[in-house]
Amino acid sequence: MSFFDLDIPARTAEKYGAEVLYDEPMKEHTTFRIGGACDMMIKINCEALLRDLMQCCKECGIPYYIIGRGSNVLISDNGLKGVVLLLGSDFAAAHISGNVIECQAGALLSAVCGLALDNSLTGLEFAYGIPGTVGGAVYMNAGAYGGEMKDVIQSCRYIDENGEIRTVSCDKMELGYRHSIFTDTDRCITSVSLKLENGDKGAIKERMDTLMARRKEKQPLEYPSAGSTFKRPAGDFAARLIEASNLKGLSVGGAQVSEKHSGFIVNKNGASFEDVRALIGMVKERVYSDTGVMLECEVLIME
Ligand SMILES: Cc1cc2nc3c(=O)[nH]c(=O)nc-3n(C[C@H](O)[C@H](O)[C@H](O)COP(=O)(O)OP(=O)(O)OC[C@H]3O[C@@H](n4cnc5c(N)ncnc54)[C@H](O)[C@@H]3O)c2cc1C
Repeated sequence: MSFFDLDIPARTAEKYGAEVLYDEPMKEHTTFRIGGACDMMIKINCEALLRDLMQCCKECGIPYYIIGRGSNVLISDNGLKGVVLLLGSDFAAAHISGNVIECQAGALLSAVCGLALDNSLTGLEFAYGIPGTVGGAVYMNAGAYGGEMKDVIQSCRYIDENGEIRTVSCDKMELGYRHSIFTDTDRCITSVSLKLENGDKGAIKERMDTLMARRKEKQPLEYPSAGSTFKRPAGDFAARLIEASNLKGLSVGGAQVSEKHSGFIVNKNGASFEDVRALIGMVKERVYSDTGVMLECEVLIME
């Protein structure tokens, strides 16, 4: 039973034929496999529905949360009060136009990388293995192995705070290290144009395979996580500092500083939200007292 009157968002979703779930466990929608139930989840299937829902939630004072693949979030075991707008497989079309890939925000990066490969387009190989959606990747300016979304974005469409649909070019998106004009705002990215170059299919495949092998070798992919827990501090690496403070393997409840890669906190055994949060706090405190560096969380906490 929600504190909010969810009739209007429910009717809006019905008008567009979108799937609605009540009391949906968020742990089913996060790579950490952590998170209590949300009051209501609506699986977005078109831009017009998203705009209507953002507007009606605002008018009715209902909080809303935008979630893609849930691969960079830590969600409270108390769940989320209000409406989760899920930009996932119902909003994931991607098509090629010359050397540009147009994708809806819910398209998985891995699928878009596959499409680029099939069409011998190069530039996106770095993103192969990042488990999020295109929208989430733009929000964070996701990056790896020397590449970042900034290198390939041509433009993106989004819904602004007033419900207006806008298009912004890459140079106006203030893309920096894990930052964009979308960071900490109520804007929602609906589609993205990625500009790639014509390349050699064999070389593209080889680069993707190499990077995936590197991930498998270095990262604790056998356990649920949200990737790197902390941002890279200036001139250093979070994992190096954590190891230097002898925190590798440190556990709180079911959460652990990965023994394979100290930059990851993993859900080793049924970790709760509070287990992870307490462990994050302990790591930050110890690293700060040993080195004077205050680590900043890359994982976004939603409660
Ligand atoms: C094993 C593993 C490895 C990873 N490796 C990397 C890596 O190499 N590099 C890297 O950068 N990240 C990495 N990540 C983190 C994560 O995959 C990326 O940050 C990814 O871009 C998040 O996308 P998402 O769809 O899962 O976003 P979510 O986790 O669902 O959301 C993250 C944030 O983006 C917002 N958001 C999502 N979609 C939209 C949208 N359409 N419009 C507006 N806001 C939106 C959400 O509200 C939230 O604030 C890794 C994670 C895991 C689990």
